[in-house]
Parts: sequence; structure tokens; C-alpha cells
Amino acid sequence: MHKDTDQALLKAQADCLRTGLRLTDKRCKVLKILLQADAPLSAYDIAEQYKQQIGEPLSAMSAYRMLGFLMRAGLAHKLHTTNQYLVCAHISCEHEHEIPQFLICDQCHSVAEVGLRKQLLREMKSSIENTGFMLASQQLELHGLCRNCREKNG
Ligand SMILES: [Zn+2]
Ligand SMILES: [Zn+2]
Ligand SMILES: [Zn+2]
Repeated sequence: MHKDTDQALLKAQADCLRTGLRLTDKRCKVLKILLQADAPLSAYDIAEQYKQQIGEPLSAMSAYRMLGFLMRAGLAHKLHTTNQYLVCAHISCEHEHEIPQFLICDQCHSVAEVGLRKQLLREMKSSIENTGFMLASQQLELHGLCRNCREKNG
């Protein structure tokens, strides 16, 4: 869960206003659901929580559209390997955003957004492209066990 939901929402609204994007009431509510989640959510999870928390129906189709907006606005990310969405860990930061990389815990399903050195990514990209493969995305999603789960497992 994000530490300060209200503050993050206010900043998201201000950022959108500044860049000419419209963070409508519905989009804002979807963002709030993501901010309050402990783990990444699928579009269906979001539609379900929207119905429970807001008391209005939200189709999965509209959830996808709103998630698309939140991603374009740089407020949320999609995990391609699990088809789930999560709020950007840097939503309250002022610094420039780089290509996000994710560490996904297979036990508790928590996700950490990490920054890898640009040099490392460049090297990875060039060795991959040397094989003739063209990368569609440089977003890495690495699966494993988080620190908490490792400690619990002893
Ligand atoms: Zn991010
Ligand atoms: Zn940051
Ligand atoms: Zn874990």
C-alpha cells in the first residue's frame, strides 16, 4: 500500500492539470484503488473493488480504458507477465522517470519497482539485439522471493 494516498492523489491531480491531462473523478477513483492495494491488481480485480468501494458498476472494458490513461499519465504500470497493474512507486517523486523494472515475489505477490543502471540496460539491449531479436519493451519483470518471505522461510 502507498504510504500517503491523499497526498499522492493531490499530486497526481496537479501533475495532470499541468500537462493538460484530465484526471476525471472515475480515473481518480481507479487510481485510489491502486494506491490502496497491497499487491498488483488485474483489470477484473479493479472493476470488482470499484463496485464494492464506490457502489457503482464498472465494466472491465472501462477499467482497461482508465488503466490505459493512468499508464499514459505515468501514474501506473502494467506487469506484462501477470497482466496486472500497480501504481508507480515514484508517484510522489519529482525526479524524471526511467524505464521501470520490477521484482515480483512469487510467494506474497508483492512487487518492488527498481531502477537499474542505464549502462546495464544498454548492454542488455545490445546483446539481445545482436541475436537479431528486436525488443518491444525494455521493462524487466524478474520473479523470485522478497526479503520478507525469505526471512519467514528461514
Ligand atoms: Zn514507476
Ligand atoms: Zn522516486
Ligand atoms: Zn514475498
